[in-house]
Amino acid sequence: MALIVQKFGGTSVGTVERIQQVAEKVKKFRENGDDIVVVVSAMSGETNRLIELAKQVSDDQPVPRELDVMISTGEQVTIALLAMALIKRGVPAVSYTGNQVRILTDNSHTKARILQIDDAKIRADLKAGRVVVVAGFQGVDEQGNITTLGRGGSDTTGVALAAALKADECQIYTDVDGVYTTDPRVVPKAQRLDKITFEEMLEMASLGSKVLQIRSVEFAGKYNVPLRVLHSFQEGPGTLITLDEEESMEQPIISGIAFNRDEAKLTIRGVPDIPGVAFKILGPISAANIEVDMIVQNVAHDNTTDFTFTVHRNDYQAAMAVLENTARELGAREVIGDTNIAKVSIVGVGMRSHAGVASRMFEALAKETINIQMISTSEIKVSVVIEEKYLELAVRALHTAFDLDAPARQAE
Ligand code: ADP
Ligand code: ASP
Ligand code: MG
Repeated sequence: MALIVQKFGGTSVGTVERIQQVAEKVKKFRENGDDIVVVVSAMSGETNRLIELAKQVSDDQPVPRELDVMISTGEQVTIALLAMALIKRGVPAVSYTGNQVRILTDNSHTKARILQIDDAKIRADLKAGRVVVVAGFQGVDEQGNITTLGRGGSDTTGVALAAALKADECQIYTDVDGVYTTDPRVVPKAQRLDKITFEEMLEMASLGSKVLQIRSVEFAGKYNVPLRVLHSFQEGPGTLITLDEEESMEQPIISGIAFNRDEAKLTIRGVPDIPGVAFKILGPISAANIEVDMIVQNVAHDNTTDFTFTVHRNDYQAAMAVLENTARELGAREVIGDTNIAKVSIVGVGMRSHAGVASRMFEALAKETINIQMISTSEIKVSVVIEEKYLELAVRALHTAFDLDAPARQAE
């Protein structure tokens, strides 16, 4: 008998019919004798709807504590519906909010981190033969304030519960049948991966693949939780996220391509090329609590240089204001910005042992006459910033260049 944590995402519980289907599925697992803890998201679109409502009464700037009180309600609806649907089918079940379980988090509203999970209640329920249905995405801080874990946070609730309960597996059920070489909605020739290492999945998630929230992958890696991504309503092996690099040795150099449209670029031109300038530029940005992603400083000429960096698009206006201030102080020539950019990244542990991966990437982009604006590399990834309108073309070209395209289907 196994203990399994199953997480169902927004589209998988998006209608009453789907919730009934999920209940049927959970019932089958119960009939196999497994102990089941289910984590559910809000019905698809619900979290967005709630955020929109909050913005309407707050000039787009909802108070984070109240926003959390509000957006945590989406999951409260689905846990109750699923528990009802299970009970109706003769499966004893009980639902809990994050607060009721006591999923303790820090107090950073809208992006809280899980600190501790009290597993006593869940264990008692499992022992009594009940399926336990837990609200994803939410917790409670020391003071009893409701917190949420950031968009996509139900994945992290699932993995954290699996770690706390030492579950045999954490299954993330969603609307695709596994992790693909890239988003299958953008590249129809993308292929499902049987396995991907935690390290690669972590890069893919941090570089924009929203199939798993990055914190859930961090958690799974840290506590060695066996993690699998599967389709909610289709049979199949899904994708196993594994520690084992050896077993993926046969895989191609590149495991996947990630991309995001969430960044914006800022450039300060004609700054004096003297020690300390990078700090003078980025110090105030970080003091304003704005995270910087990619950074490029040009080679100096005339004793001045240009300095470019990217931030999240939501932080663009704030970063621009800070940078204009810095420009005045440093006597820089000008500040320019661009929000029409996208970042495309190739990811693979195979890069460690292969030279020429970056140049192969640049060649493929050159063939499509796509201009590269910024480049950054690490041991297992290469990222480039390009003009946003070329994003899909770039991803498809790279997918082909690195031999990731699915073989053409045989005519039937
Ligand atoms: P859920 O609501 O179940 O949490 P998400 O929308 O958060 O689902 O995540 C699933 C989506 O992630 C898929 O529909 C797919 O479009 C997208 N996605 C992005 N990159 C990938 C990838 N490499 N493999 C699979 N899906 C991906
Ligand atoms: N409902 C939350 C969101 O839409 C959490 C999740 O679905 O994982 O981000
Ligand atoms: Mg998700």
